[in-house]
Amino acid sequence: MRKILPGSILSYTQYGYYKVAKTIKSRCPKCSKSGLFTLKANFYLVNKTGLFAEGICSDCKKTSEFVIMLNDSNRTKEEAEVYIYDPTASKDSLEQMERDPNIAKDLLRAYISVLNVSQSKDNSATAVMSKRVLESILKNFLGEKSKGQTLSQQFEQLPKHVDFTTPLKTLSHLVHPDSPFNEMLDLEREIDDDSVALLIELLESLIDYLFVLPGKIESVTQTLEQKWNKTK
Ligand SMILES: [Zn+2]
Repeated sequence: MRKILPGSILSYTQYGYYKVAKTIKSRCPKCSKSGLFTLKANFYLVNKTGLFAEGICSDCKKTSEFVIMLNDSNRTKEEAEVYIYDPTASKDSLEQMERDPNIAKDLLRAYISVLNVSQSKDNSATAVMSKRVLESILKNFLGEKSKGQTLSQQFEQLPKHVDFTTPLKTLSHLVHPDSPFNEMLDLEREIDDDSVALLIELLESLIDYLFVLPGKIESVTQTLEQKWNKTK
């Protein structure tokens, strides 16, 4: 499942008191192009949490499935979140990880094991393998210093070993006043479709890096803590 960002929703329809996406611009899982989908919600398949919908890609005319989330008790927003069923999304990120020379092979093997055991619903094995992944990530940056230290101590030291400012320095260079990128932003240089796609990818990555990912770690942590407080 891949979340459709509000900026990609071009029009809405009303369902109960929810505003539900009607037309969406999204990367099509079938043809990988940026297609336009008009959603046809299947109101017979409604349950308390979601609404199933289908949309046909304007480019390849193939059907993709969408899920519209209705029951989101933490939110006061009336705009329902919408997800596209995209089996290529997690495969893509795994392939991307496999190509990345910076990701250690044993880390990757441990991570793939976690995905496999979690899919076969082996919860204990998932927990054990997840610990291996955390250890492997930390060892990747801390090296021998990770030995004999708890995970908590290692995470505490992590900021000294990772330069989180590198992507920001790269961007500072990219948008330099004389740069082609800056000329593109100021419309002094022609901008083709490929550049537009890259530009959008860049914006998405930056928003993910600065807002989405830190927020996700916080909210998952909070949800776990709330869950354990309840069962105390
Ligand atoms: Zn398509």
